[in-house]
Amino acid sequence: MSENRSEISQLGEFGLIDRIREKFTLVNATSLTGIGDDAAVIEAGDDNLLVSTDMLVEGIHFDLSYTPIHHLGYKAVAVNVSDIAAMNGRAEQVTVSIALSNRFSIEAVDALYAGIKAACENYKVDLVGGDTTSSASGLVISITVLGRAKKEKIAYRNGAKVNDIICVTGDLGAAFTGLQVLEREKEVYLSDPGMQPNLEKYEYLVGRQLKPEARTDIVFDLEEAGVTPTAMIDISDGLASELLHIAKNSGVGLRIYEDKVPIDHATYETAIEFKLDPITCALNGGEDYELLFTIAKGDQEKIKNHPDIHFIGYIHERKSENVLITKQEIAVPLRAQGWDHFKA
Ligand code: ADP
Ligand code: MG
Repeated sequence: MSENRSEISQLGEFGLIDRIREKFTLVNATSLTGIGDDAAVIEAGDDNLLVSTDMLVEGIHFDLSYTPIHHLGYKAVAVNVSDIAAMNGRAEQVTVSIALSNRFSIEAVDALYAGIKAACENYKVDLVGGDTTSSASGLVISITVLGRAKKEKIAYRNGAKVNDIICVTGDLGAAFTGLQVLEREKEVYLSDPGMQPNLEKYEYLVGRQLKPEARTDIVFDLEEAGVTPTAMIDISDGLASELLHIAKNSGVGLRIYEDKVPIDHATYETAIEFKLDPITCALNGGEDYELLFTIAKGDQEKIKNHPDIHFIGYIHERKSENVLITKQEIAVPLRAQGWDHFKA
């Protein structure tokens, strides 16, 4: 062992990815976009091929004490399909690799794959391969998704232009708030196993955490409306973190308004119950898998009546200025405080 040892937590997840990226250059002309977007883009005839991978690790990304294993299978596929939607593409195939310890039974694997199958059917993707291996402890699921999009329709993280409108789908902060509920019920259960959790009131939030959906419907609706986003990303780490990715990659700054950020009333009330600020849950919660995108100002009219697309701000030219305008009209700098699994 060398004397020099640096902690990964000093770099964080994004710093580590940047460090890996710097060591590689693309040598094939068919590798159009490599590391750094929601999916890689590969030249393949008229359409481009989109490829993305996501890994879920027991104890880090999920807790089987409150996650039904079939929901986990569904979610593992949905979050991958979401990365293809985030490129404005359509997912077509997945490969699924699993590592299992002897704690898992055949029935558990059947249930996992029942969820995977339900997601494949819902998103119309084919399971075309994978890998199976054992693990010393716990379950690991790694999924690769393949998708397709017309070259000119692909939405990268780096395409946002000055004066573009910032749009977000659905509502935010629900998955994070749902996680708080599940964690609290787990504590209650551990301290008194006779207590049955009462989750009825939190059904929407818990559902958003356990069974998120990829917004493939939005890709379809945008196509119908004749709108191609100038930039797009899915919200896996939290709105703030994803906004900063778009700003940094596009070389622009942005401004969003607190009163425009969509937050469901259940999220709002439950956040208050947990003594959390609802806007913080929306900005930094993560795992909502909604789409965040920018459009040319002239396209706003075409989707202004869409019930599930919200206009939350705009792009400006002042690069380092990424701010939230609060309800009190105070400009607060946006900070990424999303999921960082390497936090010390
Ligand atoms: P997302 O949140 O959309 O899944 P990530 O933040 O996980 O995206 O990844 C950002 C980019 O970095 C993607 O292009 C991904 O393929 C790439 N990436 C992540 N981890 C690695 C790795 N260990 N080696 C190479 N590329 C990676
Ligand atoms: Mg993504």
